[in-house]
Amino acid sequence: MRGNLLTQYLRVKAQYQDAILLFRLGDFYEMFFDDAREASSVLDLTLTARNRGEPDEVPLCGFPAHAAQPYVARLLAAGRTVAVCEQTPGKTRGLMDREVVRLITPGTILEEESLDPGAPSLLAAVIPANGAYGIAALDFATGTLRATDTVEWRSVRDEVERLMPRELLVSPELEPAQRDELVRGRPWAIGNLPPLPDTAAGAADRAVAAVLAYVDATFRRRPAHLREAERYQLAGHLTLDTATRRNLELFETLSGERRGSLLGVLDRTRTPMGARRLREWLLYPLLDPAAIGRRLDAVEAFYEAVDVRTRVREILAGTGDLARLAGRIGARTAGPRDLAGLAAALERAAELRAVLEPLSGALLRETREAIACLPELVDEVRRSLVDAPPPHTRVPGYVREGRHPEIDALRAAAQDGKGWIARFEAEERRRTGIATLKVRYNKVFGYYLEVTRANLGLVPPDYERKQTLVGAERFVTATLKEHEARVLGAEERLRHLEQHVFDELLEDVARHQLAVSRTADALATLDALASLAEVAHHRGWVRPRLTTEPRTRVRAGRHPVVEAIGDAPFVPNDVDLDADAAQVLVITGPNMGGKSTYLRQVALLTILAHAGSFVPASEAVIGITDRVFTRVGASDNLAGGESTFMVEMRETAHILTRLTPRSLVILDEIGRGTSTFDGISIARAVAEALHDAPERPRTLFATHYHELTDLARERPRVRNLSVAVAEWRGEIVFLRQIVPGPTSRSYGVEVAKLAGVPDAVVERARELLAALESGGTRQAPAGEAAKQLPLFAPPGERVLRELAALEPERLTPLEALGILARLVDEVRAAR
Ligand code: ATP
Repeated sequence: MRGNLLTQYLRVKAQYQDAILLFRLGDFYEMFFDDAREASSVLDLTLTARNRGEPDEVPLCGFPAHAAQPYVARLLAAGRTVAVCEQTPGKTRGLMDREVVRLITPGTILEEESLDPGAPSLLAAVIPANGAYGIAALDFATGTLRATDTVEWRSVRDEVERLMPRELLVSPELEPAQRDELVRGRPWAIGNLPPLPDTAAGAADRAVAAVLAYVDATFRRRPAHLREAERYQLAGHLTLDTATRRNLELFETLSGERRGSLLGVLDRTRTPMGARRLREWLLYPLLDPAAIGRRLDAVEAFYEAVDVRTRVREILAGTGDLARLAGRIGARTAGPRDLAGLAAALERAAELRAVLEPLSGALLRETREAIACLPELVDEVRRSLVDAPPPHTRVPGYVREGRHPEIDALRAAAQDGKGWIARFEAEERRRTGIATLKVRYNKVFGYYLEVTRANLGLVPPDYERKQTLVGAERFVTATLKEHEARVLGAEERLRHLEQHVFDELLEDVARHQLAVSRTADALATLDALASLAEVAHHRGWVRPRLTTEPRTRVRAGRHPVVEAIGDAPFVPNDVDLDADAAQVLVITGPNMGGKSTYLRQVALLTILAHAGSFVPASEAVIGITDRVFTRVGASDNLAGGESTFMVEMRETAHILTRLTPRSLVILDEIGRGTSTFDGISIARAVAEALHDAPERPRTLFATHYHELTDLARERPRVRNLSVAVAEWRGEIVFLRQIVPGPTSRSYGVEVAKLAGVPDAVVERARELLAALESGGTRQAPAGEAAKQLPLFAPPGERVLRELAALEPERLTPLEALGILARLVDEVRAAR
C-alpha cells in the first residue's frame, strides 16, 4: 500500500473507529487491518496482505463495489455498522480524494436484501425527561415514526421488548442499572447517541429528536421519506409481556418457527406490507371497543362480500411492497425498476378503489379514500421508462423511445455504428487487397484493424502499428480513431441524458411521496382486513362481541392453531368466566387431556378479538381485557443465571404485582419445579391471592395438585372444571371435553404407558400408585423398602411422625399453612 494512500486511510478510519470502513479503491471496496481480519471471517473472504512478512505488513480483504449489497447485509446482520468511503472527484497530489458518504447501521437500512419482509426493522431510542421516559421507534425503510412516553420504568422495558428494535439508542442520562437492563445480552445493536439539542422538552419529543439526530449523523442528510412522528399511548393497547407472547406462541413457536404460531394461521396477506400490518395488530391489540368494532365491521364486510374480497386479494397480490418502495423514493435511492413498480402498483390501487365502491363501513370507506391513484404520475413513468427497466441506472437503455429526441438520435447513431464498421472494413479490404482484414474491438485498445502475418506486406503506410501477436498484427488509422471518439462520446452523452431523465422523473415522483406512503398504508390495512376475513371464512370463525363487563363467555370455542394444524378433529369447548361469579377456574384432569390447550385457547380468543379478528367459536362474548398474563410450562434462563423454578417464580411475582380489574391470568401448572409440599403450598397461596385480590382478575388455573380443588368449597368465586376421559378395557380414551367438577386422578401411569415406558416399569408404577392411593392401609406388595416410606404408614402415625420432625421456627407462615392444610386433609380423608 502506498504511503500516502495509507495515511489517507488511517485519517478516515480514525473518525470511524466503531465502524467497519469500506475504502473505495477503483472498482473495489477494501478493508484493512482489524476490519479486514473481522470481515474476512464474517464474510468468508480471503485475508491477504500487502508487504507480507515485512514489519509494515498490512492485512486486507475486499469485494467488488457493484456486488457490495450482500456483503454489507452480512456485516449488518453481525451487528456491525458499516462506513462507506467513496472516491470523490477532487485530487490531492495525484491521490483521489475520499470521504465517508454514508454510515449504514443495523437500524438505518433501506436495501431490501437486508430486511425481513414480514417485520419492520426499527431504530428505537429511550430518553428520560421531566420524570418520564420517552420511547421513539423509526421504521427507516418506510419512514414511519412512532413515539410514546411512560412514567413507569418497567413499561419501558416491556415496550422495548415488544418493539424488538434492530438498533437501540440509550440515553446516558438513564441510571446505570437501567442502561444495563436495556443493553446487556440483548439482541439489538446499540447505537451511539449524538448530543441532543435542548429544544424538545417532553420525553416523547426528546426520543423523536434523538432518533432524527442519529439519522442525520449516519445518513449525512435528512432523507425526505421520514414521516411526522405519530403518538401512541401504551395504555391504549392490550399489554402482552414478553413471556406471554412467547408462551402463547403468537409470532413464532417456542422452537422459533412461524408455522405453528398464531400469526402463521392468521396471515393470509398478499403483500409484505399487509403482513407487517397484521403483525402490528396482533402486537398492539386495541382496548377501545369502538375502534375494535370499526375493524370488525370491515372484516365482516369482507367476510360477506366474497367476490369483492377475492378480487381485492388478487389485485393486492401484484402491488409488492409499496410501503418500502415509497421509502426508497423519498430517500432517492429508488432505481428505474422501482419506479416502474410504483406505476404498476398505482394502477392497481386505482382498480381497488373501484372494486371497493360497494362496501360500506367507516374504516373501509376511510381506507378507500386514502388511496391515491395519481394517473398523471403513472403516465409520466410509463412515457419515460421502458416496460421492464433494470434495477439500477448503471445498465443503460431504460429510457423509453420517444421520451427525449437526443437520446433517440444517439441510439440511432449507435445502431448505425455497426453499419459504419462493416462499410469501413469492406472499403479497407478493397483498398489494401487484404481479403482477411478484420475490424475488431476490445476494451484495452478500442477499435483496431487486424492483419495476418502473411499479408503484412500489403499494409499501407497510413496504418499505425499497435500490437504484435503470434500470427497477426494490429493497427489503427486516423479515421478509425475518429470513429471511436465519436462512439465513446455518444455513449457517455447517452448515459448522461438517461440519468438526467431519470433524476427528473424521480424528483417528480418524490413530490408525491406522502400520497404514495398513505396509499401504501391503505393497501396494507386492506390486505390485513381481507386476510382476517379470509381466515374467518375458511375456518368458520364468528364475529366476537366485545363487552366492558368483566366476563368471558364462549360457546364451542376452538384453539385456532391446534385446530388448523392438528391431525385429529378438534373438540370444541365452552368457557364461562365472570369476575363476580366464576372468577377463578381450577382445571384438573389427566396428563395429555387438553388442559393446556384449553387455557391457551381462552387467551388466544381474547387476543384475537382485541386485534379485531373473528374467533374460532360458535358464539363469543369477550370482556375488554387490558392485560393477558401467562405462566406456562417450564422454561430455563440458564444463560441468564436462573433455574427453571426461579424463572417460574419470577413470572408468578410479575403477575401478582401487576394485576388490574381487566386482567386475564393463565396459570398452567404452578409450583412444579420444587418439592411437592412447597409446590402445593405455593400453588394454593397463589390461587387464593388471585381470588382474594380486589382487582378480581379472571383466572384459569390448570394443575395436577388435586388438593387445589378444595378451594371451590372455601372461596365463593372458584369453580372446578376437569377434562373428561373414559376408560375402556383398561386403556384411557381422551375425550377432550371440559366438564364441571374436579377429577381425582391424573392417569399419569396410563400416559406413561402410551408413551412407551417399558411394561415392567408401568406395572410397578401401578402397584406403587395403588398403595399410595389406599393411604397405606395396604402394603406395597413388592420390596421391603416400601415399608420404610413414611407415606405407607397409617395416617395417624404418619401425621404424628411428621409433626415431630417439624421445626416451626424455621417455617414461613405460608409453608406452615400449606403443611397444616395437607395434614388436615389427610386426617379427614382417613376417617
Ligand atoms: P399435561 O397435563 O400432560 O401437560 P394437558 O392436559 O395440558 O397435558 P394438552 O397439552 O393441552 O394436555 O393436550 C394434549 C394433546 O391433546 C395435544 O396434542 C392437543 O393437540 C390435543 N388436544 C387438546 N385439546 C384438544 C381438543 N379440544 N380437541 C382435540 N385435540 C385436543
